[in-house]
Amino acid sequence: MTDRPTDLFVDGTWRPAASGRRFDVHDPATGEVIASVADAGAEDALAALEAAHRAQAPWGRTPTRVRAEILRRAFDALTARSEEFARLITAEMGKPLAESRAEVAYGAEFLRWFSEEAPRISGRYLEAPDGANRLLVRKRPVGPCLLITPWNFPIAMATRKIAPAIAAGCTMVLKPADLTPLTSLLFTELLAEVGLPDGVLNVVTTTDPAAISGPLLADERLRKLSFTGSTPVGRRLIAASADRVLKVSMELGGNAPFVVCADADVDAAVEGAVVAKMRNGGEACVAANRLLVHRSVAEEFTAKLAARLSAFVVGPGDAPGTTLGPLIDERSRAKVAGLVDDAVAAGATVLTGGSVPEGPGWFYPPTVLADVRPEMTIANEEIFGPVAPVLVFDTEEEAVALANASEFGLVSFVFTRDLDRALRLSERLEAGMIGINTGVVSNPAAPFGGVKASGLGREGGAEGIEEYLETIYVGIRDP
Ligand code: NAD
Repeated sequence: MTDRPTDLFVDGTWRPAASGRRFDVHDPATGEVIASVADAGAEDALAALEAAHRAQAPWGRTPTRVRAEILRRAFDALTARSEEFARLITAEMGKPLAESRAEVAYGAEFLRWFSEEAPRISGRYLEAPDGANRLLVRKRPVGPCLLITPWNFPIAMATRKIAPAIAAGCTMVLKPADLTPLTSLLFTELLAEVGLPDGVLNVVTTTDPAAISGPLLADERLRKLSFTGSTPVGRRLIAASADRVLKVSMELGGNAPFVVCADADVDAAVEGAVVAKMRNGGEACVAANRLLVHRSVAEEFTAKLAARLSAFVVGPGDAPGTTLGPLIDERSRAKVAGLVDDAVAAGATVLTGGSVPEGPGWFYPPTVLADVRPEMTIANEEIFGPVAPVLVFDTEEEAVALANASEFGLVSFVFTRDLDRALRLSERLEAGMIGINTGVVSNPAAPFGGVKASGLGREGGAEGIEEYLETIYVGIRDP
């Protein structure tokens, strides 16, 4: 990995951390070190913010067409270099190459989508209802943003924030997850190559995120925080943003219910559950976390799901035929294994998987648990791994109550052939996104985000760019 960028990127220049410190990045399939990356501290972060601050005024005045064309060139370049990016994602995050390629395609779509949204930024001019005044409403970029991303989708979580910020005319300090910094750094190099001006995107990698977020959130040059990660860290960052009343966007944790109704096409529901559970090895905020299945189809559904999951091929993401890679690190695997062991001790039945394999790497097998009850820890915590707990319900009322009994509200899935029921459930389930007869809802053209403790704001769709714009109103006396 020696030919890849591993330094900080500040004001268009690659540089080591001021302290000279570096940290190691590991391949989760082997535990081996694959790169050493600059370990930034507060001084580096403030230099990055200063660069973003200096670049903000000229960048905010750049015509939207120019910003759109940079994004479009970035889309073309990322698409052309898909294989290189996919291999890097697999190396540092572990997912199978086919999934890394799919992530690059998904991540690139945010660049294309927001290249198309940039020229659509608009305002309005109207007469006040009393006819006395004219009202002029316009948009302007929020200003320098701190973008913090997680490790599970190293390219897509970055483009989902960077693309709308570029489209809106904001400058940025990006802090990628320390487990997977390499993809963001390579993408930063790509953006510079396609003509993103110096200072617009600055990147600081670090093992001490609080040392960076603390001084940045307290600094009056920063105008916005966009965070994707866990709810506990999100809560701390909202609190830290309160003093300066920062504009915040939060994409936090989930605990998605996957509801299979008595009238569902069971085979379609099994295929939907395979995708909703196993995409990204279950390490996704939108992963089906609780499979709620009507008693009349529970046995058939669970047996078919166990058969499908036990056919997954577990191995290193770059090995031919692998369909499930390792978990990200030892801590994550211990958490997943602990949740399964706890559920089994409380009476759950393992239909497939359920135990940690021997050997190197952070592997955990696809696992299906039957006889899971709502009070078990596994039904109340984000699993973030390839484990499918099945709970049984008898009435639609009960399904809704079970689905909504969570502090989270990111996504809910429903499988039914009854249109009325589908619409009724889509209105009653407390989630920012609902999948009807599909296991995938993520789409760059749609507003991604949650309600309740799953977050604030939306990414993607027409809504995504609004997070990076201020609305300014000018009142004008009747001419
Ligand atoms: P995490 O909260 O541990 O870390 C996320 C990011 O925050 C990382 O870059 C980390 O370095 C940084 N961070 C941690 N402490 C910080 C601090 N004090 N100040 C500033 N930054 C800090 O989460 P993770 O384990 O990387 O990601 C998994 C979580 O992310 C899951 O809960 C998942 O649901 C969530 N997630 C949500 C979405 C969404 O769109 N809603 C998408 C992907 C992941």
